[in-house]
Amino acid sequence: KLYNQVQDLKGNIRVYCRVRPSLGGRSDFKSVVDSIEEGTITINTPAKYGKGSRSFNFNKVFGPSSTQAEVFADTRPLIRSVLDGYNVCIFAYGQTGSGKTHTMTGPKDLTETSQGVNYRALSDLFFIAEQRKDTLQYDVSVQMIEIYNEQNGFNVPDASLVHVASMYDVIDLMKLGHKNRAVGATALNDRSSRSHSCLTVHVQGRDVTSGAVLRGCMHLVDLAGSERVDKSEVAGDRLKEAQHINKSLSALGDVISSLAQKNAHVPYRNSKLTQLLQDSLGGQAKTLMFVHISPELNAVGETLSTLKFAERVA
Ligand code: ADP
Ligand code: MG
Repeated sequence: KLYNQVQDLKGNIRVYCRVRPSLGGRSDFKSVVDSIEEGTITINTPAKYGKGSRSFNFNKVFGPSSTQAEVFADTRPLIRSVLDGYNVCIFAYGQTGSGKTHTMTGPKDLTETSQGVNYRALSDLFFIAEQRKDTLQYDVSVQMIEIYNEQNGFNVPDASLVHVASMYDVIDLMKLGHKNRAVGATALNDRSSRSHSCLTVHVQGRDVTSGAVLRGCMHLVDLAGSERVDKSEVAGDRLKEAQHINKSLSALGDVISSLAQKNAHVPYRNSKLTQLLQDSLGGQAKTLMFVHISPELNAVGETLSTLKFAERVA
């Protein structure tokens, strides 16, 4: 019995790697990815990083030609879990430009096929709720939170919980959220790459015969860019931002890896991000992390550090 519980816990954390395609469309493009085989990705490392190759293992690796639908197919069981009363966290990790927002939301010119995990998750959620309506009546509300510099978190002005009855409500809300987020953004240093943006979905199901209530919660988190910032090149606000991002991402890594190792002490209190998500990390909760990498040679340093970070939590 104990063995099964331990197995279950281990099964509660999954790490998927996704490689973005080359964006230039050049036919002679040479990716740093040497090969992808199910859960293993092998990177060709240039001389600066010890010429050769290095492999990393994950629960799954999605190559550059993977579609949004294929990526979501492996996420789908988690949506059912939320409606069954579990808490779920889905993270997108990676350097700026590696495809986090593409996975979670989709490209700017969004179509039905290019919709990311957020839209697909909510659409599934409503679909399953509808199927169950004779036995369970669900109530769904969502909240968009931006965590910037470790300080906002709980009390951003527009972080109120909004009741949603259909996919249309969700789409309206997300459009609004993105509009708010875009305010003050410059082309190069988009603020979105320096804050964590979290879409939280609260679900309450009432058993129509017994009246019993179950609650589930899902956090869909597009994390701040994981790139290391050169201290000699930034100062003031930018340096402070970089330090806050560093602190929260490494705190997140520490929490997930101590959960994966089943440590008795889990250091939730080391950042606002992990405090906010505490109820949905560990215990019965299920966690999925998408780690994103870019295929370009000039990004290989960040790619290797992203993969090393992810290997630690996998
Ligand atoms: P991030 O959020 O990590 O900064 P984005 O999601 O904005 O990165 O991706 C950077 C660019 O690459 C965007 O133009 C995005 O549409 C494109 N892109 C990312 N991933 C993919 C993908 N899997 N397929 C096609 N285009 C992608
Ligand atoms: Mg982004």
